[in-house]
Amino acid sequence: MDAEQFRRLGHALVDWIAETRETLEARPVMSSARPGEIRARLPREPPEHGGGAGDLIARLEADVLPGITHWNHPAFFAYFPSNSSYASILGDLACAGLGVQGMSWQTSPAATELEEVVMDWLRQLVGLSGAWTGVIQDTASTATLGALICARERTLGFSVGGLQGPGGALVVYASAEAHSSVDKATRLAGFGRAHLRVIACDAARALRVDALAEAIEHDLAAGLVPCAVVATAGTTNTTAFDPIDAIAAVTERTGVWLHVDAAMAGTAMVAPECRALWHGIERADSLVWNPHKWLGVGFDCSAFYCRDPQHLIRVMGTDPAYLRTAQDGQVSNFRDWHIQLGRRFRALKLWFHLLDEGAAGIRARIRRDLDNARWLAGQVAATPGWQVMAPVQLQTVCVRFAPAGLDEPARSAANLAIARQVNASGHAYLTPSLLDGAQILRVSIGAERTERRHVAALWDALQAAATATS
Ligand code: PLP
Repeated sequence: MDAEQFRRLGHALVDWIAETRETLEARPVMSSARPGEIRARLPREPPEHGGGAGDLIARLEADVLPGITHWNHPAFFAYFPSNSSYASILGDLACAGLGVQGMSWQTSPAATELEEVVMDWLRQLVGLSGAWTGVIQDTASTATLGALICARERTLGFSVGGLQGPGGALVVYASAEAHSSVDKATRLAGFGRAHLRVIACDAARALRVDALAEAIEHDLAAGLVPCAVVATAGTTNTTAFDPIDAIAAVTERTGVWLHVDAAMAGTAMVAPECRALWHGIERADSLVWNPHKWLGVGFDCSAFYCRDPQHLIRVMGTDPAYLRTAQDGQVSNFRDWHIQLGRRFRALKLWFHLLDEGAAGIRARIRRDLDNARWLAGQVAATPGWQVMAPVQLQTVCVRFAPAGLDEPARSAANLAIARQVNASGHAYLTPSLLDGAQILRVSIGAERTERRHVAALWDALQAAATATS
């Protein structure tokens, strides 16, 4: 491809992206592709001769679009929102165009220094003190794995034997509502599944601090070594908030690392009225939240903050001769701040997005979504045969169709059928989930273009599907 064709196709592709996004409302939210359908459209063999990129837009339209579920659709209510604003798309384009590999400061000083600046902007936006230093990672899962490795090394004092050395087994604690990435990180970091304590929750599905303290005491008495607590600010199922301040009192007393997973809820903290929900955050050792969720920065962009970057660098750093540069010691080399070596220039999309939307724009959008969630919860609570299943702390509303005439198994079957019917209609997309074994409908509001009318249409669709199933 030469520069002329790149220009022509590039302009056309930008037009196509804008056109696709501006017509999302007329498209099904969830792809109706059957397993293998997209693969069957594509040749089995790689092209022997090049020159086939000229019709890439037609190919996108014909071969790819049928297999796309539209996360930016205004009727996307599934999982958690994963928005990618126009500005962040341009940032990703600039990132790809510059083709930077920013592992060291010297390999592109702007990649490191812009990231330092935007991570500090982000810190200020969510009201964190200057004691925190941030770095962009790919996902919250990776960041939590890194945090547990930091905790492990602090507990072991960087023992050369690692977990294989003498001493009791190290233990990690998280609530029963913690994200599956915590279980995964515990396994990957070598603690072993038997050393993850799943702590009971209270009625609001927040970690019970008395149960945590008891588990730690029990492990200490048994000769084990409490190492880390992962607290969740905004759980995946219901956006419950673990009491960080009270948890920190326990971790500080016992010398245990406190990592906070605020993957979804971090964005809410741009609105000061939400910050009470993570009261005590300043007492944590590390924190992750995902601008690639509700904030609007396209996937992937996860913000990892720690209070002691020197500890992080000691854990993650390497020093082979071929990576040394003249500036080592004067600058940040982000290769030493996370697991992988190479890194993209993701700060660009965060920067573009913040320049475009501004703190006021983000706050307004968050407040719109919080308001829409409260409105939906109010509608559900006021409708006979329907229930709101969990406190609505943020923008996620867990509801259930539970008419008096249906027994428990029939209610679960009806709710699953409602979710499948609405999703298959293409008019909206939500997540069926389980709460205490009961099938529920989980509505997560927060796509960039979701207005009250889309939430109202979803509520109508849920009621219509309920009528059809009963
Ligand atoms: N933690 C929580 C609370 C989540 O809700 C999620 C995903 O939704 C994750 C972690 C994992 O996020 P990621 O895909 O960035 O690893």
